[in-house]
Amino acid sequence: EINVGYVSAVAVGLGGERLLSWRRAFEAGQHVGEGIAAVAAIIRRVVARMAKQNRQVLGLTVAVPGLIDAQGAVRLAPNLGWRDLDLGGDLAKALRDPGFPIQVDNDANLAALAEQRFGEHAGATDLVYLTGEIGVGAGVIMDGALRRGALGFSGEIGHIQLDASGPACRCGRVGCLEAMAGIGALLDTVSGAEVEEIERLAGAGDAATIARIESVGSNLGKGVAIVANLLNPSVVVLGGFYVPLAPWLLPALETELRARAIAPEVTVVASSLGLDAAALGGAARVLDSVDSGRLPS
Ligand code: BGC
Ligand code: ZN
Repeated sequence: EINVGYVSAVAVGLGGERLLSWRRAFEAGQHVGEGIAAVAAIIRRVVARMAKQNRQVLGLTVAVPGLIDAQGAVRLAPNLGWRDLDLGGDLAKALRDPGFPIQVDNDANLAALAEQRFGEHAGATDLVYLTGEIGVGAGVIMDGALRRGALGFSGEIGHIQLDASGPACRCGRVGCLEAMAGIGALLDTVSGAEVEEIERLAGAGDAATIARIESVGSNLGKGVAIVANLLNPSVVVLGGFYVPLAPWLLPALETELRARAIAPEVTVVASSLGLDAAALGGAARVLDSVDSGRLPS
């Protein structure tokens, strides 16, 4: 999974067992070509590790924090600065025909699939997953299926405007939900270490830190209220870096949500899948392709 701040890779066996989990910082804002080369290098390493275990890679999904069309092309990844990119094709070229299919999908969509399959609310038919990274995106499962919209761009909740005089967003607009409730609203650089530091300060009762998390929480509550009114999910799962901050985030979020949602019976929980959710969803997509006979097994 490519994400601003980090890349994580997960390898899963045909029985769903986890074979490898790997995470490393990923520099945002680098040149597209360098970004693709970095991702290709990670894929090569994972494939080599699998080969050492005498395992063959049957398929790969790359989760991208951006708008991915039905052909798997990246239309726009605001926080990476990527636009109109045939990422799957470019990666296949960089890997010189890797011998397995590469699919590209939106990170929030994949994470929602992972929640529906492996999460605490597995089996939920109406579930929305919200990514807690620099970017905020939604994966929408309604009536049992992932809903993608006309071009595949549904769930771009991070770029709904909350405040016309709010801070600038990386998409070029102002006051977007992600500029006001993304982890970037809390941190200068998103690294696990920085989130840990915020968590430590809040845990130690630092009032200024807690107030900052609560402000992000109430902005996020406004977003969740929009989700609740529009889609009526039974559960909204908060993922990524929202998870470690949930003890301070959730109460502020709940207050705002209850005040705004017209049917407030929605459960909001922190994900149990942590930072691997999108990568796990990617693995689930490959497993589905194997099951349906679209890949050799
Ligand atoms: C992107 C979404 C993505 C989200 C989380 C947003 O900035 O527009 O496509 O899902 O960040 O990474
Ligand atoms: Zn935006």
